Parts: sequence; C-alpha cells; structure tokens
Amino acid sequence: MSRLRFDVVQEAFKKKAVDVELPDKRPSEYFGELVFNREKMHKYLDAGIYTALVNCIDNGEPLDRSTADGVAAGMKTWAMEHGVTHVTHWFQPLTEGTAEKHDSFMEYDGKGGMIECFDGKMLVQQEPDASSFPNGGIRATFEARGYTAWDPMSPVFIQDDTLCIPTVFISYTGEALDYKTPLKKALKAVCDAALPVCRLFDPKVSKVISYLGWEQEYFLVDEDLYATRPDLMLCGRTLMGHASSKSQQLDDHYFGAIPSRVAAFMRDIEIAGYKLGIPLKTRHNEAAPNQFELAPIYGEANLANDQNQQIMNVMNAMARKHGFVVVFHEKPFDGINGSGKHNNWSLGTDTGVQLLAPGKDAMGNLQFITFFVNVLAAVQKHNSVLKASIASATNAHRLGGNEAPPAIVSAFLGQTMTSVLRKLLEVPSDTPIEIAGKRGKSVGLVEIPEIFLDNTDRNRTSPFAFTGNRFEFRAVGSSANCAGALTTLNAAVAEQLLQFKADVDKAMKNGIQLNVAVMDTLKPLIASVIDTICFDGNGYSEEWQKEAVRRGLDTEIRVPEMFKAFTTPQSVKMFTSLGIYSEVELQARNEVKWEIYAKKVQIEARVLGRMAYNHIIPAALQYQTRLLDNIKLLKELYPSAFEQMASVEMGLVSEISSLVTELKNGVDAMVELRKIANNAPGEYETAARYYDVAQALVGLRSYIDRLEEIVDDDLWPMPKYRELLFIN
Ligand code: ADP
Ligand code: MG
Repeated sequence: MSRLRFDVVQEAFKKKAVDVELPDKRPSEYFGELVFNREKMHKYLDAGIYTALVNCIDNGEPLDRSTADGVAAGMKTWAMEHGVTHVTHWFQPLTEGTAEKHDSFMEYDGKGGMIECFDGKMLVQQEPDASSFPNGGIRATFEARGYTAWDPMSPVFIQDDTLCIPTVFISYTGEALDYKTPLKKALKAVCDAALPVCRLFDPKVSKVISYLGWEQEYFLVDEDLYATRPDLMLCGRTLMGHASSKSQQLDDHYFGAIPSRVAAFMRDIEIAGYKLGIPLKTRHNEAAPNQFELAPIYGEANLANDQNQQIMNVMNAMARKHGFVVVFHEKPFDGINGSGKHNNWSLGTDTGVQLLAPGKDAMGNLQFITFFVNVLAAVQKHNSVLKASIASATNAHRLGGNEAPPAIVSAFLGQTMTSVLRKLLEVPSDTPIEIAGKRGKSVGLVEIPEIFLDNTDRNRTSPFAFTGNRFEFRAVGSSANCAGALTTLNAAVAEQLLQFKADVDKAMKNGIQLNVAVMDTLKPLIASVIDTICFDGNGYSEEWQKEAVRRGLDTEIRVPEMFKAFTTPQSVKMFTSLGIYSEVELQARNEVKWEIYAKKVQIEARVLGRMAYNHIIPAALQYQTRLLDNIKLLKELYPSAFEQMASVEMGLVSEISSLVTELKNGVDAMVELRKIANNAPGEYETAARYYDVAQALVGLRSYIDRLEEIVDDDLWPMPKYRELLFIN
C-alpha cells in the first residue's frame, strides 16, 4: 500500500463511534417536537383559526388571507420558542433532493429598531428567483419567475434555526416545476376514482387514502476514503474498482450485527427523525457490505414522501458528524448489490378498511379482489410508463443487473392469489369468495386461506410484488423522489377504476345485481392480466426476457428511449384527462429527464477520462518502469539466462503496455463519442447519443480493473473496494 493510502486507510480504520446525545425523554414523548402538528395548532392558534386550518387540511377548504395571518402568527410564536430566526419555503424541484432559500424574520420596526416578522403572505406564497431550476423550456428567460405555494397537507417543521414550509413549485404560467404538484394531483385523482367504487360496497365511506411505506437503502463510506475517490465524489458511484476477494458471497452482512459507528449514526438519525414526526421503524444491514436500510411505518403518500426527502437530508448531514458519507446512488459498486427504495403502496378508507387486503366476509373479499384486479389491469395497460417513471441514468445500472428487478414491469402475485384468480375465472360470477379456515372448506367456493393473511410468499426478483395487504413497487431507485413513481402508479390506477366503475354501472342499469356486475366486469380483466403482466417465476432469468417479449411487454433497456412512454397518446390521455399533467408539462419533463441523463453520463465520462490519464496510466507506467529496471538488471548480471528468469516481468510489461494502450485509445474514442453527442440537435438526440457513451464506460473500466489486479499495490493511487466496503 502506498504511504498516502496507508495513512488514509489507517485513519479511517481507527475511528470510533461518535457519542450520541440521548434525549432525556422517551421517543414517544419527543416525537413530532419539531413539527407544527395538530397538537401545536391547538395550542398556538385561536379556536376559529384552528377550525379553518383543520377544515383546509381534512376537506380541502380554501384558507382566506386573515386566517393565513392567524396561522402564521401561531407558527411564529412556536418557532421562536425553539430559537428559530429564519423561514424557508421547502420544495422539490426536478433535481435530486430538495431546495430552500432562507429569509430571516428580521424587518425594520419603523421606530429605528428591528422586529421579527412572519405573516400569512410569507406563509402562503413566495416568488423565488428560480430561473436556474430544470424546467424543460417551460419558462422563457424573459419570464423566469416561479412560485412556491404552501401545502397545508404536509406540516411545517423546524430544521436547525429555520422554519421549513413544505410547498409546491410552479411556473408563472401555472405548470408544475416540481415533484409534489403532480403527486398531489394524482393522489386526488386516485382517491376520487376509488371512492365511488368503495361506496358500491359501503355507502358510509367518505374518503380514500393512498399510502406509501418506503424502504430506503443506502451505503456508508468513510469520509476520508471517500475524499480520495474523484468518482465517488463527483458521480456518486465508483467508475472503477476490482471486486474485493471477499464481498457478499458469505451472506454475512445481511441482518448482521450493526457496526458500532454505524449504529451511532442510525441512532442519531432516529432521534432527529422522531423529532420531525417521522415514524421510523426498521433499521438493518443490507446484503452488500456497508449497505444498510431504514424504513418507517407507512403513512399518507404525500406526507410519507416529504418525510423521505427530509430524512435523506438528515442522513446526508448526520453522516458527516459520524465521519461517513451517505451514498444514495443505485449502484455505487460494481459486482455487489445496488440500492433501491421499495415503495410499499396501498389504498385504504376513512372507515379503516385496507382495500388491498382480504375482507371480513364474502363482500369484503369481493371488494379486495376488485381493487387487486384493477391495480393489475392498470399496471398491465401502463407498464411502459411505469417503467419510465423509475428510469434514470443511475437506476439503469441496477435494472437488469442480477440483484435488482429487471427492466420489465411484471407483477408477482404469489401462489395463493394466482390460484384465487384462476378459480374465479371458472366459477359462476355470484360465487362468494371465502376465507378458508374460518368457514371450513367446501367444494366450489373460491377461498383465500387464512394463513395467507400474515404469511405471503416473497419474490425478490419482481419489480411489482403483492405482499399480502399492499403492492411493493421495488423498481424505484434509492436516490429517486418517490413522487415520480407514485404519480404514475396512482394515475394509472385512477384511470382504471373510473373505467371499471363505468362498466359496473352499465351492467347494473341492465338490472344485474352488484356482485355479479362486479365479477362480470372483473373476469375479462383477470383473464387478460394473468397471461401478460402476472409472472411469479425468476425475473432475472433469460427465459423471462424472451417470454416477456412474447407477451408483448415493454423490454426496452435504453433509458432515453424509455422516457418516450410519457408522451404516447395513451399516456397523454391518462395524465391529461385526470388533470395531472398537461401535454406541455409531459414534454417539458421529458426534456429535463433527457438533459439530466446526458449530463450525468457526460460527467462520468469526463471523470473516468481524467482518472485514467491522471491516476491510472501514471501508476501503471511507474510499475512498468520498475519491471523494466528489474529486467535490465537481470540482463546485465545474467546475460545468458535472463530471458527465462525475466519471463514474468516481460509478460507483465507487455500486458501493461496493451492495457494502457487500450485504455488511452478508449478514452480518446469516448471523447469523440461525446463530441457527437454534444452536437446532436435536441435533448432527446443528445441523451440517445450519451447512451452510447455510457456503454463505452463499461468497457473502459475493465482495462482499469485488470490493471488494479496486476499493478503493485504500493503504487495504486486510490482506496480499493476491500477498503471502501469493509471499513466502518
Ligand atoms: P420488507 O420485509 O419488505 O423489507 P419492511 O418492514 O422493511 O419490509 O418495510 C415494509 C414497509 O411497508 C414498511 O414501511 C411498512 O410500514 C409498509 N407497509 C406495511 N403495510 C402497508 C400497507 N398496507 N400499505 C403501505 N405500506 C405498508
Ligand atoms: Mg425491508
């Protein structure tokens, strides 16, 4: 090991867990301490203002200006008790992560002094000079204004000295420039569409809620090691690195004992998360070395997604306190597991019914089957755009890789539900669907075994898996904003439920009774999904790729092509008819996606090129010089025997020569590919060309990784996988 690398590695290895300051209260007592939740509203708002705000949150009633002033006054008092001096509108632009611009409360008091000020106007709307956010050409430069507007559905919270107000972000002309706006529209669409369907079964239902339970996977890398890797620093992933001799083959990391430095980091995140009202539940080691996971109890989707964004920010900040950097990239290390963010998704009613879980009686089960099948039908119809909704330059490394959902959106049902669906196709439409075990077995019934309720099968290879009371959209990437996937999923389900309700209504108008009308409508959907998107086999297998083509599923693997699914007539119809995206927004968002794709690959290509020239080739040539010196000495001292004695050295010298030559030529060729891409006429064409650059990167790293294998460790300039992945 080189002296420099040795020092960095030693430094990292010696680090001990940082002390965590434990609150003197129990988590349940300080939970939500930094959130302006109902309890705080009650305490800090006048009765009339409180009622108006709650009515706005629960029933979407508008708030007038004087009520907003009253709310702001209460928030200000509460915030100042926590030492808050600043306020920001907190929003989710089409970049990764969140955006905030802080303003202090300070104003002149008109009497020669200063005063803290925060009113309804500042709460409700801000006008950030936001011309530098991605907008896909929506905002002409002469009209660069964007607006952020308060989302009362997601509570205001405190971060350090700043009051953060969750907001949507829209352009002067009203187009969404963020993730939150379309998500909120899609959630409203699915709830509006699901409600009349629920009322077929229970007229008392007055609201349907869409839920999200995210599972955040991530890697931790020691910050000193991280700082020595330009690829990790600038691209969020390693662009080179030979596999460590030991990586995850012993399965000894998954659910293993959590290393003490990591445990301290997790504890700190939990304390911060609880204070922010985030119901964190699960923490564990993941499959790959230095890979971990964090998951909360699921909640209403808009809020749960905000909380995911919040906790990612907290994790980024907290990691540094513990001497780590969090890596959210989907595939930071080649050859071991990548990171996802499973989106556990379901629908439920305000009467407490989980619509994707078996019911209490035959009608309840019919309702469950109704939602279950409609979700599958939605996923079948929109499988291309669902895939597009999770596609990105970074997630591309995971999709199709052998540890992640493949780049084909299919659904896993498990044996029980598959046989229930098959059975339903065979029996008359008025057959009751029973829970077996509770009522005993009787021939002819369609039965869901009781054990199924808490014991569903698992299939890690499926991108969209049913897990007993919810679907788990597993293809979502670890760095993604869940809203991208959830907007599309909820939209697809909303469209399908509207169609379903219309069909059932038609049948019932013809005098058919409810349960028969429902089942008659479901049967063709069942027959169709069962032979297309339902697949319980191994999603990683090559046979599945072929089978999926035969079934007419989208098997596109090129990310820039995938995005086109957003603007097909079918997708445009779905999004516009539900009022989620206009056609302009869909087009603009694709422009943004293509632009980000191209830029990410461009940065990687530049970094790899420079690392090759500045780090790798010099190290390889230095080693080659050592070998040549050795050969020269052997030749001088043993002129007749040297050829045999120096055969190893000579072999290495020539292998290094050819690897270095290939590498240099490859880097130069990649520069030419970039020139072509940069000169392409539009965002799509540029991204499509950068796809070629991305493929070239894969080939180039193979020369570097081979060099890493043979070059003297003493000369290798950067920490290797065995150091990056095993020090914690
Ligand atoms: P896994 O075993 O799949 O890794 P985890 O316990 O890590 O499961 O995470 C499961 C997630 O699913 C949690 O966030 C949990 O709250 C959530 N979840 C459970 N039931 C539902 C539901 N009905 N709807 C949405 N999410 C749910
Ligand atoms: Mg999990």
